[in-house]
Amino acid sequence: MTELQTALLELIRRTSAEIPDDVHRALLAAGANEQQGSIAANAMQIIDQNIALAKNKSQPICQDTGSVLFYVDCPVGYDQITFAEAAREAVRQATRKGYLRQNSVDSLTGKNDGTNVGPGAPALHFQQQRAPEINVRLLLKGGGCENVGAQYSLPHTALGANRDLAGCRKVILDAVLQAQGKGCGPGILGVCIGGDRATGYEYSKQQLLRRLDDRNPVPELDALEQDIVQTANALGIGPMGFGGRTTLLGAKIGAVNRLPASFFVSISYMCWAYRRQGVTLNEAGGIARWLY
Ligand code: SF4
Repeated sequence: MTELQTALLELIRRTSAEIPDDVHRALLAAGANEQQGSIAANAMQIIDQNIALAKNKSQPICQDTGSVLFYVDCPVGYDQITFAEAAREAVRQATRKGYLRQNSVDSLTGKNDGTNVGPGAPALHFQQQRAPEINVRLLLKGGGCENVGAQYSLPHTALGANRDLAGCRKVILDAVLQAQGKGCGPGILGVCIGGDRATGYEYSKQQLLRRLDDRNPVPELDALEQDIVQTANALGIGPMGFGGRTTLLGAKIGAVNRLPASFFVSISYMCWAYRRQGVTLNEAGGIARWLY
């Protein structure tokens, strides 16, 4: 294997087996905040035990190792074709070694060739930057939580949601309500206000690359993020929908331009098994440092 393939294999292993520190801290704080002895507190304890077990045994945190989504920031002139080939080989190897379960099927026949590699799998997103570093971030996004993602077109008459931040708030909270008991909460929302339908969903997923403890530099969006988490956690939905104080661990909201004729709010829901890691590569393609 090349040094790049080895680095990407290790990135996949660690992403599948180890929850990032910021997410683990948020889960521990949420567990401590639940009423002791309640079903919610027990659910949070079981989640924590699963996390510890997976890390110690270097095995997947959840049996659904999810869609494999790479986000690569690279300088002008970087060989994206070689990276894509290395990423596909690393996914094949990771599947052979059991870091990834055999989760990817042909959409027409349902056939699973057992490699997790095929059209669109893994998904690769490249962005050029002026800086010389190559940063590779990886999300493993489970199917259950992906199913409760939602896209709203405002105005939304039934919800009384107009084309403003108050309307965005209404539809985001509606998505949380619709997801209750599904999607393996406590959840984390990635939200995009604006864009077209495709870029809206795409940008909402990119919000999940942010650290849970960061703050939005846009004051209105920062306020909306805090408000959504507080309001959702007062709904009583709780971990796995069992009731309790932790419905969301976080909400990350971005905005991109839209057409005057459209106003989409796109919401990606991440489950508690929030698998996200990243690395900066050295010149040889090896791991220079971890990003989370
Ligand atoms: S939604 Fe998340 S925790 Fe639930 S089964 Fe899928 S990957 Fe696992």
